Amino acid sequence: TSFDQMGIKDDLLRGIYGYGFEKPSAIQQRAVLPIINGRDVIAQAQSGTGKTSMISLTVCQIVDTALREVQALILSPTRELASQTERVMLAIGDFLNIQVHSCIGGKSIGEDIRRLEHGVHVVSGTPGRVCDMIKRRTLRTRAIKLLILDEADEMLSRGFKDQIYDVYRYLPPELQGIKQFFVAVEKEEWKFDTLCDLYDTLTI
Ligand code: AMP
Repeated sequence: TSFDQMGIKDDLLRGIYGYGFEKPSAIQQRAVLPIINGRDVIAQAQSGTGKTSMISLTVCQIVDTALREVQALILSPTRELASQTERVMLAIGDFLNIQVHSCIGGKSIGEDIRRLEHGVHVVSGTPGRVCDMIKRRTLRTRAIKLLILDEADEMLSRGFKDQIYDVYRYLPPELQGIKQFFVAVEKEEWKFDTLCDLYDTLTI
């Protein structure tokens, strides 16, 4: 499969090729289309296999930039990963005019409020700060159609479970079409089971 055969919009293809990618990595070949087509996906991929890029291009594909509301929310266990995802998305989405904001602890809350009130399409953040912004009603969740839990196993082992549930509870109930997508990096079986439990709890 090539990127051209994946039904990706032209301006995004330009960004992908401009970024230097020629063909999708294995995980990109397997996961991008199902997510774009609205399926819930739990993917396991070790770091360095194109996971961050896969998340970025999937989000760029599903976001409608004409609608200036948060449509995709990515939760990551660390500030570094949240910022990295933001950077890759901005690079790949260069021709889309996509507005991405990273909501991470340690950065100015004032800046978060300013950016979110001005209107962004995508939020990439850590669970604590994202939760805070949702509770303040600065991060509006009504247009979210894609929730990504990046390195969900790592988030669970760092004790973010309650905050993940919290974020989920604030997603509007009428958003039945919400899609979830989990990425586990490590291949330990128990962690995969834990992810499945989390998934079941969230989707009941
Ligand atoms: P990631 O796991 O997305 O951080 O990707 C790991 C490294 O592989 C990064 O340097 C990416 O820029 C690169 N990469 C990801 N996907 C591709 C691709 N389809 N073609 C070439 N390089 C890629």
